[in-house]
Amino acid sequence: MSGLTGEHFWAGERHRGSGQPFAAVEAATGKKQQPIYRDATADEVDAAVQAAARAAAPFAAMVPADRAAFLRRIADEMLELGDALLACAQSETALPVPRLQMERGRTMNQLRLFADLVEQGSWVDARIDRAQPDREPMPKPDLRAMLVPLGPVAVFGASNFPLAYSVAGGDTASALAAGCPVVIKGHPAHPGTSELVAGAVVRAAAATGAPAGVFGMVHGRGHEPGRCLVEHPEVTAVGFTGSAVGGQALVRLAAMRPRPIPVFAEMGSVNPVFVLPGAMAERSAAIAEALAASVTLGTGQFCTCPGMVMHDASAAGESFVTELSDRLAAAAAGVMVHPQLVTNYRGAVAQVQGLSDVVSRATGSDYDEQSATTAEARLFTADVSAVIEQDRLREELFGPAVVAVRYGSGSELLEVARCLDGHLTATIHGTDADLQEHAELVALLQSKVGRLLFGGVPTGVEVCASMQHGGPWPASSDSRFTAVGPRAILRWARPVCLQNAPTEQLPAALRDDNPMGLWRTVDGVHDRH
Ligand code: NAP
Repeated sequence: MSGLTGEHFWAGERHRGSGQPFAAVEAATGKKQQPIYRDATADEVDAAVQAAARAAAPFAAMVPADRAAFLRRIADEMLELGDALLACAQSETALPVPRLQMERGRTMNQLRLFADLVEQGSWVDARIDRAQPDREPMPKPDLRAMLVPLGPVAVFGASNFPLAYSVAGGDTASALAAGCPVVIKGHPAHPGTSELVAGAVVRAAAATGAPAGVFGMVHGRGHEPGRCLVEHPEVTAVGFTGSAVGGQALVRLAAMRPRPIPVFAEMGSVNPVFVLPGAMAERSAAIAEALAASVTLGTGQFCTCPGMVMHDASAAGESFVTELSDRLAAAAAGVMVHPQLVTNYRGAVAQVQGLSDVVSRATGSDYDEQSATTAEARLFTADVSAVIEQDRLREELFGPAVVAVRYGSGSELLEVARCLDGHLTATIHGTDADLQEHAELVALLQSKVGRLLFGGVPTGVEVCASMQHGGPWPASSDSRFTAVGPRAILRWARPVCLQNAPTEQLPAALRDDNPMGLWRTVDGVHDRH
């Protein structure tokens, strides 16, 4: 692609790498593209992180309005890249242009959302407990606390969201908003897209006076650059979006450092769907139709793709499976964002086919066993005992595949729900009477997921204040936080308390006169005075 150089970025400049070469691959054809990229060496990762470390203090001190201007400028610079960005992302991922336009819009909205949050400023959660020198039996000191940025953050993007969960995606936007410099490890499945967006971030930093080291990006096709990044002593936290294998490896690496750091890993999920008997009797065909569309949306390449559906053994339950099967059998195969995902999909499908008491019920009509780039829809059926006994059925099968699990009774439904690990989402289809009768299931599922849906399908993650995108392990490494929505910023900050600090030592957020007009908690009262 013209205009691309294959270079890394740090300290506000491009740097030619010296590691192992690799090429971008056109997702639809598997053909290698120009230019040549290079894995970052340990020295190159070190240079990017050292630049970020030098930028940490000046960036943390940047006034909120300037930090907000930087974030908004990144959005503007991304838009300025115009069709060239969309064309590059389309070539590298085979995602359709309308989908990429939507994703670009979402990425820009996230940057602007965090700009608004930073400019308003109350996210720092200022708390003031004023001194009571006359308190008996002991005087009470003056205590004031607020959130402060952690320091340089390493970010790993996922292949299936080349914009919204990549170079200037949610993790980068929220970390920069918190005041943390970011070094991203570019995803090797879309290095050109990454280079274009990285250039936009660097231009935005220069235009708005952010320190040059505030953003860096290193390329890497092997795991070594990522390992160097996570192990670097100046890195204070990691944001990861990707597979369970990758996320868990980084969690282990971070925990084994001499000074362990938090890893906020958003990993894969099966997103189980429970269709209760009343809802099945009322609307089995409509649920099957919506589910088939959700499973095949974007060739199943969503972390919220529903991978398992529980149905009863009634006639309606059987016709639900028939409807789902017909729809998936008729679904067209889709190109995956990179050939390795197709290989992984085929391997996972073969594993599931090899399990006992699992039946291959439907295969997408244009299945091409030889294709290195496309994945076909799949429906498997199993019963509750097969799911309980075989771990593989409870793990993500990344692609357009779903397992229909037949349950015989409410207690079987509870049994299968109990054996599930953590997930990003679960969905219940039930009438009011169903939900009352299965109250224990509803409560149990809340302990297993970050987002519980009553009806509908789990694909589609709204970016808003109440969104929870992150579930108990192994869906995410820390279910107390969300990767989507304004509260994602909290991953990159920690509270600091100042005791008996002289007024001139206090940051604006903690001064008595509240010059920024923040919402604060002062002597237990939450207001803006
Ligand atoms: P991936 O293969 O795990 O790659 C993600 C990034 O992590 C890449 O940069 C990869 O670099 C790096 N990485 C993986 N394993 C590593 C290791 N052991 N050491 C160092 N670096 C490592 O994931 P993907 O294929 O891009 O994305 C698909 C997965 O992401 C699916 O499972 C999907 O469910 C999940 N996902 C989750 C969310 C969410 O919000 N929960 C959102 C989107 C996607 P290399 O390529 O060099 O290995």
